Amino acid sequence: MDHFRYDEAGVLHGEGVSLPALVAAVGTPTYVYSRATLTRHFKVMDDALSGVDHLICYSVKANSNLAVLQLLASLGSGFDIVSVGELHRVLAAGGDPDKVVFSGVGKRDDEIAAALRAGIHCINVESAWELARCAEVAAAVGVPAPVSLRVNPDVDPKTHEYIATGLRTSKFGVPFDEALELYRTAHASPHLTVVGVDCHIGSQIVEPTPLIDALDRVLELVDTLQAEGMTIGHVDMGGGLGITYKDERPAPPKAIGEAYAARLAPRGLKLLVEPGRVIAGNAGVMLMRVLGRKSNGERTFVITDAAMNDNIRPSLYRAWQDIVPVQRDLDAPEEVVDVVGPICESGDFFAQERPLARVDRDALLAMRSAGAYGFCMSSNYNSRQRAAEVMVDGDTWTVIRPREELTALFASERLLPDLPAGRSFEG
Ligand SMILES: *Cc1c(COP(=O)(O)O)cnc(C)c1O
Repeated sequence: MDHFRYDEAGVLHGEGVSLPALVAAVGTPTYVYSRATLTRHFKVMDDALSGVDHLICYSVKANSNLAVLQLLASLGSGFDIVSVGELHRVLAAGGDPDKVVFSGVGKRDDEIAAALRAGIHCINVESAWELARCAEVAAAVGVPAPVSLRVNPDVDPKTHEYIATGLRTSKFGVPFDEALELYRTAHASPHLTVVGVDCHIGSQIVEPTPLIDALDRVLELVDTLQAEGMTIGHVDMGGGLGITYKDERPAPPKAIGEAYAARLAPRGLKLLVEPGRVIAGNAGVMLMRVLGRKSNGERTFVITDAAMNDNIRPSLYRAWQDIVPVQRDLDAPEEVVDVVGPICESGDFFAQERPLARVDRDALLAMRSAGAYGFCMSSNYNSRQRAAEVMVDGDTWTVIRPREELTALFASERLLPDLPAGRSFEG
């Protein structure tokens, strides 16, 4: 459930804010997030896990805007980070370092050191070399590194191949049968403190079974580790809960939460989860304006002022995201169109052969489910300024990132000193 609805006049609103009115003030393309939806999603998740001692570590990479992190921190969320940059964001947004876990296949020494100095809860280690780096950096920093191994339970999450991460063939995690040996190494090191076991099998998972199978495998390992005298405080089940983009029917978080709790609570194990998409995905839309239309005889193209640099999911994963008019016109004839951006790449599309009520030049469109892996994956390709981001809250809204200025595009670039400089352009 989200808070993007049409009013009686057919005008799309974000909570109480009319989106055409918002666009009149901030322009397009613009990402709009709903504070009430983000809050609701966090609380649904929190409630789903109420049967077991737990910590939600929101996956920063899904939507890393400071205001989003600040809101989640205020609700009690912890954070799953994948870089020192994300650590800085979390701290700047008021996040508690003691609720931070650090994931990722390749962490640099300086990132490990920064995490230890900040006093994070746990480093999710993904390989033997990384475990060795953690021990060495911890010795240098003078703080033992709290570690958990990301094990690869070899279950098929039944999702897109680019976001399936728990198969034996993936680059992620430690193979299940090597985990025990690495845990022994960690346990024996004076510079490492074993605190948990971690896994993350993929993203946009809609069936509960792979997640529960993964937990059962992880618990076999926990039993072995405990039998060897190791103290395992938590099990981290990663993120990956899917959302409805089109007609997916994701398992309700409550069902998964109850299955987790039934297994973990009796053993006194704390549960960590790292949801990203399920919190932020349907809490955001991307607004864009139609620049014009054209037809090549076979296909009709609706060309928008947003492009693949603003939202790469359709191009990268052939992801389907709903596109709706901001002003609904029930009399407009339905047609089948491609919604495309202006970039010179055939992959620059948002929708192909999509039934859509006819829209003409200057109409506003909203791409739904754009709150996760949207703005944060955007780029300046084609020297396009990155979109604005806005948070709506009831009848009010806050620009949480203004549209990038043209001058910001190359402000950090430098000319060669021996060649003539150019000039500025008032355009
Ligand atoms: C991407 C990622 C997540 C979040 O995944 P969602 O599908 O957005 O919930 C959590 N943990 C790790 C390790 C990840 O890489």
